This record gives sequence, structure tokens and C-alpha cells, in this order.
Amino acid sequence: MAVDTSKVLISKTQIEEMLDRVASRINKDYADKDLVVVGILTGAYIFTADLTRRLNISMDVDFMQVSSYVGTESTGDLKIKKDLSVDVAGRDVLIVEDIVDTGRTMALLMDVISKRGAKSVKLCSAFDKPDRRVNDLVPDYTGIVIPDEFVVGYGLDLDGQYRNFEDVRIVR
Ligand code: IMP
Repeated sequence: MAVDTSKVLISKTQIEEMLDRVASRINKDYADKDLVVVGILTGAYIFTADLTRRLNISMDVDFMQVSSYVGTESTGDLKIKKDLSVDVAGRDVLIVEDIVDTGRTMALLMDVISKRGAKSVKLCSAFDKPDRRVNDLVPDYTGIVIPDEFVVGYGLDLDGQYRNFEDVRIVR
């Protein structure tokens, strides 16, 4: 089915400004920490690459692929499709996500990483849709807050498509 993706919500230039702003805060906050960047596949592959290229501190980079589903618990359950290769015990974990929507997936994942003994667990999200939140999750680093619209591009997909757009567009 063809969808209309002609409406640009966030330009490439705005994304680059966001990357510089977020990276500069992370460079300061993690200068003396034992940083493990955990990029969330698949949506955050571009953001993780762009962000880490702007970091000038020592770090490991690893990836996870997770999703949440609402079963018997209204908070949902976490499905881990691809797990980390590194041990995060005693280390400072920064999860790098594409977009926080209801907040279920990231709340569950942050809990899982904490229980593995991480020294700290923080969340950095390129985009945030706070109007859709079902819990009190607030990313520690938010790139750009967006309205309650379904968006694609800059890693975000609709049925696997449109991740390659350099800007973020509204699906109509
Ligand atoms: P949450 O658990 O509801 O916060 O789910 C967040 C996940 O839903 C993101 O990592 C995306 O994979 C997906 N998602 C939420 N909103 C959008 C959107 O506007 N475009 C594409 N994917 C989205």
C-alpha cells in the first residue's frame, strides 16, 4: 500500500543540531565514567552511529534488539530478540533509542539492565512522543520532542520501509 511521506517534520539540519547538542552533554557527563553505549536495533542504528562519532570519550558500543508486548501485566513483558555480548555489571550503561512512545519497552529494558548489576542506566532517545506515555518514563537525554504522529525516516520505519530518509516525515 502506498503511503504519503511528503510532509517533513524534522529536517536533516535540525537532526544535525540535535546530534551536536546531545553529544556535547554526553561528552561532559561521561568523561570519567566506564561507558557502554547500547544501541537498540533496528531503529536506532543510524542515531547510534551518528551520536557515537561525535563522542570523544572512551566507550564500548553494543546492540540489543527488543520489543514489548502487553500480556497479563499492563506494564507489558520484554522480548529480547538479540542480547548484548558485553557484561554490563559495574559499568555505566547509556541506552540509545530511536523514539520513546508509550515508554513500555524502555522502562522494561532499563529494569533488565539494572538487574544485571549495571552501575548506572540512562536513556538517550533521538525523538520523544510524551503525549503517548503510559508510565512516568522521561529520557535522560532527549533529542527532539514530537507530537503524536506516526513518523518515518532517520532509522524509523513503517513495515521495514523508509529508514533511509535523512529527515523525519509524517506518515499520512
Ligand atoms: P514504546 O514501548 O511504545 O515506547 O515503543 C517504542 C517503539 O515503537 C520504538 O522503538 C519504535 O520502534 C516504535 N515506534 C513508536 N512510534 C513510532 C513512530 O512514530 N514511527 C516508527 N516507529 C515508532
